[in-house]
Amino acid sequence: MSNTVLEVKNVLKTFGGLKALNDLNLTVKEGTVHAIIGPNGAGKSTMLNVCIGQLTPDTGSVTFNGEMITGKKPFEINQAGISRVFQTPAIFEDLTILQNVMVPALASRDGDFTFNAFKSLQKENDLEEEAMKFLQEVSLEDQAHNLAGSMSRGNKRRLELAMCLIQHPKLLLLDEPTAGMARHDTNRTIDTLKKIKEGGMTKIIIEHDMHVVFSIADRISVLAQGTIIAEGTPDEIRGNPKVQEAYLGGAHL
Ligand code: ADP
Ligand code: MG
Repeated sequence: MSNTVLEVKNVLKTFGGLKALNDLNLTVKEGTVHAIIGPNGAGKSTMLNVCIGQLTPDTGSVTFNGEMITGKKPFEINQAGISRVFQTPAIFEDLTILQNVMVPALASRDGDFTFNAFKSLQKENDLEEEAMKFLQEVSLEDQAHNLAGSMSRGNKRRLELAMCLIQHPKLLLLDEPTAGMARHDTNRTIDTLKKIKEGGMTKIIIEHDMHVVFSIADRISVLAQGTIIAEGTPDEIRGNPKVQEAYLGGAHL
């Protein structure tokens, strides 16, 4: 039995009178790709926001590697090893693609100001090399020196993924990584996600595209009206009548 990386326990999150998360419980095991699916407005993004400290639950808790992270600040949770690819790409449009990937790594580097120029430059070279490696991972290396702002939305989202990967997170949260992408970009992103699956990093992926979900998830939880209504392997979920019902008129399973 593998270790639990993330545990969401009895989380309630309200917005006015609306229960966006209603007694939510979720356990994510180390090294798995855990997909969260569910209709629009089910609470998926709210759940990720609670996990990264962007939102504080009304009641309940989130534990990461056995440590309570509820109430911690987003940067503290990020430093503890959780990275997230946002639904809307958060990149630096005026920097090159390569520089974008270097930013998160620089931000987490300690004692930068005390280094002498030589050491700094040397580190810069190493960092550039590492950033290139992650650009290769998302197949953007041939555009490394272009300005990030000039890219397609699909490529911006892939860049953001590289910016997360360079932080070597223990847990990566992906909120609809292929949303709004053309089929070609979606396929490239699936390939990337499959490639990084082998690294053993735990991933939670929110995704509407069932083709993506069924091709990469080890486990699937179905969220509807703020609570998990079904959980299991892709095969178990595919045939679950509750899931079919939650999706009536929505996505296709
Ligand atoms: P999903 O990502 O599954 O589509 P969300 O987590 O974005 O769903 O939203 C869940 C519910 O909470 C929706 O009804 C949404 O309108 C509401 N909601 C989300 N964020 C806020 C907010 N900041 N203020 C008010 N209501 C919100
Ligand atoms: Mg959402």
